Amino acid sequence: MEKVMRKFFLFLSDNKLLTKMARKYGLKFGAGRFVAGEKISDAKKTIESLNEKGLSVTLDFLGEFVSESDEARSRADECVNAIKMIGENQLDSQLSLKLTSLGLDISEDLVLENMEKILEAGKKYNVFVTIDMEDYPRLQKTLDIFEKLKQKYDGIGTVMQAYLYRVSDDIENLNQYNPNLRLVKGAYKESAEVAFPEKKDTDENFKKIIAQHLQNGNYTAVATHDDAIIEFTKKFAEEHNIPRDQFEFQMLYGIRNERQNELSEEGYKMRVYVPYGNDWYGYFMRRLAERPANVGFVVKGIFK
Ligand code: FAD
Repeated sequence: MEKVMRKFFLFLSDNKLLTKMARKYGLKFGAGRFVAGEKISDAKKTIESLNEKGLSVTLDFLGEFVSESDEARSRADECVNAIKMIGENQLDSQLSLKLTSLGLDISEDLVLENMEKILEAGKKYNVFVTIDMEDYPRLQKTLDIFEKLKQKYDGIGTVMQAYLYRVSDDIENLNQYNPNLRLVKGAYKESAEVAFPEKKDTDENFKKIIAQHLQNGNYTAVATHDDAIIEFTKKFAEEHNIPRDQFEFQMLYGIRNERQNELSEEGYKMRVYVPYGNDWYGYFMRRLAERPANVGFVVKGIFK
């Protein structure tokens, strides 16, 4: 049943009409539990309250699969605004973004133009930028763009998905740049040709790439809500004398808040991924796919 629900929500997540309607009719149906709000002022308040609790943040201006150049440019401007807001208020926050929101499906030149604008602002305000990883058809393009930008900018990282068979090779190829990488299980619907169909294989591969990237001596963000993976990371770091400032844990806003606080209190760096903006639909559907139990929050949202 869980597998069927997962497929159903992933199917809904890339429905263009529902995405448009969601933008128009605002943050509804329980999505507010996972999204800080629609405006940058909402994001600022959320970051401040997380920072007060000792939690770091990566802020995400929600958006993906943009098909108009003007929209991609205006989304890049919003990312620059977000960086400025973080810098001017001296918040403990990075920025995360998706290349399809900056024109990846339109042209590489457009994405590079937008990313350079964002990374210049990141350099000026000292705000690190992570390129989220999207679905498999965009993987190679995203890696190529990351490599180009990494040669020019220091403050940039990207994401590796443990469910992909090729992930370990990709990490090894990027090792020459000593990149700061976020490691995740992977959130998209992928075929068995490119990704492990069984969760247990993804979990094993996740451990393998955490060990690989840490042992390569690179900064590693372990982004998961899975206690088994968190415990593995702690133990591996201890046994291999990996200093605590070489890795951090990351979780999504609204998921396992207590665990986030516990890890921070134990002295680990804990970063919360905070999305904001009106393009919340795809993000929200992927969260439901991960845990159909969250449907309860949606039902409450409808009747609120
Ligand atoms: P799971 O095996 O899914 O979950 C382990 C346990 O965590 C569950 O048993 C449950 O107790 C709890 N849990 C998990 N999800 C939820 C939930 N939604 N609600 C409540 N409890 C839950 N994926 C990408 O493909 N690209 C990215 O760029 C990307 N960036 C990410 C950034 C961050 C900070 C995080 C945390 C995740 C990101 N992901 C990304 C998503 C990731 O790939 C997984 O889909 C997601 O994290 C769920 O996997 P898990 O590791 O938490 O383990």
